[in-house]
Amino acid sequence: MINETSYSLGATRSVIRDLFEYGRARAAVVGPERVYDYSLGNPSIPSPPEVNRAIREILEDTSSLEVHGYTSAVGDLAAREAIAADLNARFQAGARAEDLFLGCGAAPELAAVARALACPGEEILAIAPYFPEYKVFVEGAGAVFRAVPPALPGFQIDLEALDAMLSPNTAAVIVNSPNNPAGTVYSRETLEALAALLTRKAGRFGHPIYLISDEPYRELVYDGAEVSFLPKLYRDTVVCYSYSKSLSLPGERIGYVYVPAAAADHDRLYAAVAGASRAIGHVCAPSLIQKVIARCAHLRPDLQAYDHLRRALAGGLAEMGYEMADPQGAFYLFVKAPGGDAQAFSDRAKAKDLLVVPGDGFGCSGYFRLCYCVPMEQITGSLPVFRQLIEETAHD
Ligand code: PLP
Repeated sequence: MINETSYSLGATRSVIRDLFEYGRARAAVVGPERVYDYSLGNPSIPSPPEVNRAIREILEDTSSLEVHGYTSAVGDLAAREAIAADLNARFQAGARAEDLFLGCGAAPELAAVARALACPGEEILAIAPYFPEYKVFVEGAGAVFRAVPPALPGFQIDLEALDAMLSPNTAAVIVNSPNNPAGTVYSRETLEALAALLTRKAGRFGHPIYLISDEPYRELVYDGAEVSFLPKLYRDTVVCYSYSKSLSLPGERIGYVYVPAAAADHDRLYAAVAGASRAIGHVCAPSLIQKVIARCAHLRPDLQAYDHLRRALAGGLAEMGYEMADPQGAFYLFVKAPGGDAQAFSDRAKAKDLLVVPGDGFGCSGYFRLCYCVPMEQITGSLPVFRQLIEETAHD
């Protein structure tokens, strides 16, 4: 017998993938320059040159057996020490190598942390709009996924709604800032209020409510926006970090889980993350790229190219009358659909070879997502199409 849940997860295609595949097929017919594809969040700036240099040096300097061998399941000590040093230099985190677990990117880390924190039937909450895979990870852990409705139009956190949803059955809350899909950054004020709420509720329920901070976009911020370091604001935070976007390494599959020393039940929680990873078949993160991180954990992306694209697209759309969340981070714009129906808008745009992702799958209807990791020519070419669409909708 084939497991039906696994079958349907594998057989159902995501809206984003569908749009992306459609775009490729259309490009083969009409030419790539005539398709304006804003669907997929694949980084479009190269990794810092130090990354490739480190790969070459490691291959030259280190024995082949060591480069390609298994590392310890929790990760190479040198890489964990380098990450701890970076966290301590930037945030005075007090991180130690033994608080860090190297994973194959944020996706498997989140899946493991959900399994480490929730017993079957317990709830994990996420703040809408949210990365749709959270539901898969949480349900895969046997837990119940619940979405806190979006706080329109600023896309901070609806603390009243969250307050009403927290219960003795809540194991954890997932936050993602800078946010996919909204491109927003939660303010320090929002996060302090969130921390106060969780502390109060955890006290009342008599058990910790963990905060899972999903941080693949931590370094991608503009206009001097501040990304608060959550373990400093809330003791029971678990960080899931990824180098997929910050160092443009999504195919190398590397990141880490950080369980701060002060977090409730630290040692058991860290062991549970390792155990949950083991249960989903994690052996160790890829060895070569762990060695790269040992040398490159301190590097940051050069954001000028993203910022340039962001300004061109957000500025062009705003000038036409499109409304959107303040795009302070990540590489997405989340735009209010003219006419109010994002699916209808996306269908209409698709007919003009403009591919935008309706927000419904992110738990937020009425908005569509644009990923601006695209060539500038695409932005310039697509703006007249956006203009046609908003004008047509106004005449409906
Ligand atoms: N979380 C968010 C919010 C994301 O947008 C992504 C990828 O796009 C992930 C997690 C997973 O990232 P990765 O597994 O590549 O680190």
